[in-house]
Amino acid sequence: MNAQRITRRQFMGAASVGAIAAASGSIPAFAGLGGAAKLAVQGGTPVRAKRWPAWPIWDPAAEERILTILRSGNWFRGQGQTVTEFEGKYARLLGAKRCTCTVNGTNALLTAMHALDVGVGDEVIVSPYTFIATYNVVIGSSALPVFADTDPETFQINPDKIEERITERTRAIMPVHILGIPADMDRINAIAKKHKLVVIEDACQAWLAQYRGKCCGTLGDLGCFSFQNSKHLPCGEGGAVVGNDEELMDRIHSYHNCGRPYGSVKGATGYPIVGTNRRMTEYQAAILLNQMQRLEADTQRRWANGQYLTGKIKDIPGIIPCKLYEGTTRAAYHLYPFRYKKEYFNNAPRARFMAALSAEGIPCSGGYGPQYRDELIEAALTSKNFTRSFPKARLDQYRKELHFPGNDQLCQEAVWLGQNMLLTEKADMDDIANAIRKIYDNRDKLA
Ligand SMILES: *Cc1c(COP(=O)(O)O)cnc(C)c1O
Repeated sequence: MNAQRITRRQFMGAASVGAIAAASGSIPAFAGLGGAAKLAVQGGTPVRAKRWPAWPIWDPAAEERILTILRSGNWFRGQGQTVTEFEGKYARLLGAKRCTCTVNGTNALLTAMHALDVGVGDEVIVSPYTFIATYNVVIGSSALPVFADTDPETFQINPDKIEERITERTRAIMPVHILGIPADMDRINAIAKKHKLVVIEDACQAWLAQYRGKCCGTLGDLGCFSFQNSKHLPCGEGGAVVGNDEELMDRIHSYHNCGRPYGSVKGATGYPIVGTNRRMTEYQAAILLNQMQRLEADTQRRWANGQYLTGKIKDIPGIIPCKLYEGTTRAAYHLYPFRYKKEYFNNAPRARFMAALSAEGIPCSGGYGPQYRDELIEAALTSKNFTRSFPKARLDQYRKELHFPGNDQLCQEAVWLGQNMLLTEKADMDDIANAIRKIYDNRDKLA
């Protein structure tokens, strides 16, 4: 079997066989260490019985405004001022000049790509370790998603792997601040400048995350956000593009509103440019205006608790917290990640560890799989758009380069905790650390 053409299912199968084969490399556990209590997964008492906070958190104070909008019948932004008000306030909160809301984050990214003329026949450098929407918007724009490998230490795109992926077709770098943790933006921006590429930040998990004191989403040419239900600033579905270039933002506004004139976008006719409709509704913006009131305090709490938790777990053997880049002044922790090294846990597979942790009252997940091996990539490469827009030699080369060891390692080692778990007190972080420590102390009974 050609390693480069392996599918995701085959990969997962191979990975679990590898886990058994590696058993001889185990680091011995010492039974009864610290008189450890029985694991909950084996019938013992869980470390934690208390529930974690629900998300999203509704504020009844917002109901009057939403009812007023509903009763007025002015539900679309052309008949009200709510979307415009939110755009102004969100731009100010981030320290950006302008913001245009969209129907969701996926369409914010599509809008940013279109505005910067990134599309058919272009190549976009992206991280393979991201929510599938990042892949989808590049492929959906008939551009080639060229992955630069993930740094397993930071969970982010590895800046050392970007330049080798640049070709004469490369137009953009799309860094994702994945899990709400800032990517290495100084390095990424320097590479972009050197090669005359545009930078579109996928900040769809990084509301108020900061890099050198500036908000993620304001560090590249354009930044994109999602306000989907699970996100830190939620309204069901919603998104935004932010930027500092007034003319570019005028074009974005015009484009998202059917190509109608806006600011510097003028014309003799009613529709000077080709546009689309990606407008947000008034009641979505009313929810956002309300939810935005809690965002700064929530973000600060997640950051403080995340750092506290890192301090508590970093010395547990086989548990490796995510490393932050030097420029990180605040992570938003949409997910709180760490890595699990099974060699230190009697070679118990990650799934066993996660089941044990969940049983202790600490829900967790293994995060993204190696999606770049999924069928969607090959389907795109053989599609009409791609075969017409790229020479066969380029697509063949692309297939050969479709393997990312850093990303694969991370997909096997990552453990994520939900953002809602960080909206608590230090004692709740202690529960997480104590549960991991308990599993470590019982590692001889785990595998
Ligand atoms: C949520 C998300 C998106 C897409 O946002 P939607 O609002 O769900 O369309 C894009 N990229 C990342 C990294 C995301 O987490």
